[in-house]
Amino acid sequence: MKIILCDLSHKRDGRFSSEYIPYPIGCIKSYFCANFEADIDFSVELIKDPEELSSQIEQLSKDAQPLIFGFSCYMWNHNLSMSYASAIKKLFPDSLIVFGGPDFPLEIEEKRLWLQERPCIDLFIEGEGEKPFLSAVEVFCASGFKVLKEDLARIPSIFSILDDNTLAHSSDLAKDGFIKSARIENLDATPSPYLMGYLDKFLIEGNLVPLMESNRGCPFTCTFCVDGNAARSKVFKVHPNRLGEELYYIAARYKGSTLALADTNFGMYREDFEFCKMLAACRKETGYPQYINTSTGKNQKERIIACAELVEGAMRVAASVQTLDPIILKNIKRSNISSDQLVAMSERLSGGISNTYAELILGLPGDSEATHISSVSDCVDAGYNQIRMHTLTLLNGSVMGTIEDRERWGFQTKHRGLQRCFGTYKLFNNTMNVIETEEVVVSQRSMPFSDYLNCRLYNLTIAVFYNEEVLRELIVFLKGKNLKPSDWLNFVWKNILKTSGPIKDIFCRFLELTERELYSDPSDIVTKFSVDDSFRGDVFQGKVGYNLLLDTQGEILISHFDDLIDVTCILLQDFLKEVGSKVSPNEIAEINQIGRFISLKRRNIFNVSEEYVEEFNSALLYRISSAPSKVDERSTPFLVRFYFQERIAEFISDQARIYGTTKEGIGKIIARSPIKDFQRQVEVIEG
Ligand code: SF4
Repeated sequence: MKIILCDLSHKRDGRFSSEYIPYPIGCIKSYFCANFEADIDFSVELIKDPEELSSQIEQLSKDAQPLIFGFSCYMWNHNLSMSYASAIKKLFPDSLIVFGGPDFPLEIEEKRLWLQERPCIDLFIEGEGEKPFLSAVEVFCASGFKVLKEDLARIPSIFSILDDNTLAHSSDLAKDGFIKSARIENLDATPSPYLMGYLDKFLIEGNLVPLMESNRGCPFTCTFCVDGNAARSKVFKVHPNRLGEELYYIAARYKGSTLALADTNFGMYREDFEFCKMLAACRKETGYPQYINTSTGKNQKERIIACAELVEGAMRVAASVQTLDPIILKNIKRSNISSDQLVAMSERLSGGISNTYAELILGLPGDSEATHISSVSDCVDAGYNQIRMHTLTLLNGSVMGTIEDRERWGFQTKHRGLQRCFGTYKLFNNTMNVIETEEVVVSQRSMPFSDYLNCRLYNLTIAVFYNEEVLRELIVFLKGKNLKPSDWLNFVWKNILKTSGPIKDIFCRFLELTERELYSDPSDIVTKFSVDDSFRGDVFQGKVGYNLLLDTQGEILISHFDDLIDVTCILLQDFLKEVGSKVSPNEIAEINQIGRFISLKRRNIFNVSEEYVEEFNSALLYRISSAPSKVDERSTPFLVRFYFQERIAEFISDQARIYGTTKEGIGKIIARSPIKDFQRQVEVIEG
């Protein structure tokens, strides 16, 4: 019996759009191999690369029997998995095709329609896949390798569409009225797929990032999230000792610098602190991981800060508030930390060793231009060095994606190509052109479409003029004058289109593309990509199918950094005049010096060997550049050297290898990595 478990990712120029090692299918293999007791020879393959799947299928003989294919189904690989599954069902009609993952509607009738539209899927597993997958294979074997859907659908968490288009399942309902899917309470009982060696080929591959999980589940109930349902509310944990073993196993084999943790609330639990001690020790002994990507928790801020301090800034601490408006928070059933705690946490971290960011969603129920800008402004003034701003996406599997919630809030939605999730794949002589899409909320009762566009322009302003402390020295300058950074950014937002030059042109193009990327029907995008060469060319050239916000930010950082500095210096003088400050010639000179200083720190960041030495005479810059013990109020000229530290140069090169340095590659790096650190060290060498 041959089992092929696929967690496919789109791939372009040798790089995966979803760059994580496929740990979830590794867990399914581990559980299966440890618990399958039938006297049948079997093999289990794990596949992430569509080209590898094509090659495996092409090598299977026509009468290969029995065959089982499992596909993960996420927003970023749904159509890709479907394309292969349909082809497989035609080639091997007796094979068992299993889907699982979060991209599946919550309501029973919607599940039925979803499966009816996808007849090649024999069964869908909702929630954690390990137990139901094992049971499904046991039933398949017991029936003499026949796909008996009614029998399969007696297994809890499994859904199947029968010939008469009825939906077969036997799952109970949880307290929120949605399906109570099967959970694994003792996660340690499943052998670690890392320690079993099942993920070695991905570790060695080098272009993927190791993914670990220290627990599963989330106690919160955010309605926009697939983890906010009652079925997922209990949290089950992996023992820190096992995590430690996995960590050292990875460190011994993996050449990259980043580790990703799949946890939804890392740092919130006592065990996370124990694991962070191991992370700190491993970093000291092996140098790995240099950076940890994770989603930090909503409560227990003291413990999260302690965790971040243990790993010495390797982990970015998030204030994933989504909004600070109390009415919207109530609408989405989310409890946040208070604004006061938000400021306290930022103050505690920003002076220290950790990177911080706040996360906000535009277009939540009850949101408006005023509430969105107020939330972003509060996070900026609280001192978070990056504000991640997302457009509300309606996800299958979330309460907000249900018909009832859509009607309740009056959502108007559109569809757009999903960032980097497209590709052309060959199977035998057939070419499959596949693109993924997402559904975004572009207006609702409290936010007309014109406000959505204004907010997107505002978000680009924050990304380009504030995020990652890109203009940090200017913010220090403003604070020295008791001016709020958020007021400056609002000024930039309102005036950027009145300027001239490349930055204004890029902002105008961003607005135009923000409208042009939206489609009423997802199948328009999917069909066009499949049959229209010119549209596909646009996608491959980056005109469609990218994260516009991050890619535009990336384009400016990489190709127009000095233009950004020029327009910033002009706008800053206008801003000072507007708030009533007198702008003396000395002050203009200082603003220009600060601009030049920032430019030398940040320009050409992928050229890590490029160094500069230049003379300055600004007292503020002297203070910023000098060691605290040397600070005085001098204004005589001094020389500053700008260079990349070895550790940072290595990290930049590592990120460039994983994501590439095209504008979309940079966009992905911005989304994943602390690019606040992508800057030259400054050192006063004379003065
Ligand atoms: S958004 Fe975060 S806190 Fe809210 S339900 Fe999802 S995982 Fe949990």
